Amino acid sequence: MEKNKTSFNISDIFNSASNIGGTGIVLLNKIIKTSSHGSKLYAKLEGLNPGGSVKDRPALYMIKNAVEKGLIKENTSIIDSSSGNTGISYAMIGALLGIKVKIYAPSNMSEERKKIMRLYGAELVLTPPEESHDGAIKRASEEYERGGKDKYYMPDQYNNTYNPISHYETTAVEILKQTGGNIDYFATGIGTGGTILGVGKRLKEYNDKIKIIAVVPDSEMHGIEGWKYNYSLNFYGFDADKIIDDFVKVDTEGSYAALKKLVKDEGILCGFSSGANVYGILKLTAKYKGNFVTVLPDTGSRYLSTRVFSEF
Ligand code: PMP
Repeated sequence: MEKNKTSFNISDIFNSASNIGGTGIVLLNKIIKTSSHGSKLYAKLEGLNPGGSVKDRPALYMIKNAVEKGLIKENTSIIDSSSGNTGISYAMIGALLGIKVKIYAPSNMSEERKKIMRLYGAELVLTPPEESHDGAIKRASEEYERGGKDKYYMPDQYNNTYNPISHYETTAVEILKQTGGNIDYFATGIGTGGTILGVGKRLKEYNDKIKIIAVVPDSEMHGIEGWKYNYSLNFYGFDADKIIDDFVKVDTEGSYAALKKLVKDEGILCGFSSGANVYGILKLTAKYKGNFVTVLPDTGSRYLSTRVFSEF
């Protein structure tokens, strides 16, 4: 292999990862009964992605862009921090494309997540839980600085515009098609903010009357995996002030009750942030009426060993 020449073919990347995206959407009519609320709630089932979460989409876009720009070469490893879902997506796509993956994550993430990443062949570096995600981000960045650009490619999902672009080009387009564009509100939580900004921007371009609402935790100790309390929205070309119209705060108990309803009444085994999104929308129906859309970001099967499902 010629030095610095990539062995990856862009069309191969999209062909072999063509099962990412294209997820189903369902009407949650047990949770929001149109007759009593005067509203409808549609939820996109992101747990149906091959990596089990919404993060397959940005991971694929960020990696594809890096290959395209020659930032990932023959011996480059992908290095990043992740609460779990993005790490799993990197690991899955890395396995598919033969790219090494090294993930920094707090050691208290679920055992299933650790196992899944390792099964795909990723190297996992566990960081002290008291440092939370910020500690994992810092340590991954330090190792990236030590190894340099020849050794590593760091997607940096918190600042990589291909994160929201993936949602702008896929998630949002699918939502518009699946609902016929008949949407009044899109509401979801914030981890990196890729979903809300990417989907929100596209929906507003389609119809500027669609309101984009962020569902945020009411306390720092919320326990909702995938969400950040002190988030920053920092993506080139996606201006949060122009995209997000309103916020709704949710507490952990209400989110947990909504998760229970999703599993037991709607038959959807999803993660905690799905419950939190749905609870946020339930609260919003007191103020707004119309067609709501949200995403259920991941499958519940990777939380089976955690407290979330221990007394369900
Ligand atoms: N829920 C879960 C389970 C997640 O893994 C994430 C991603 N961190 C989110 C919600 C938030 O998505 P985003 O990063 O696009 O804001």
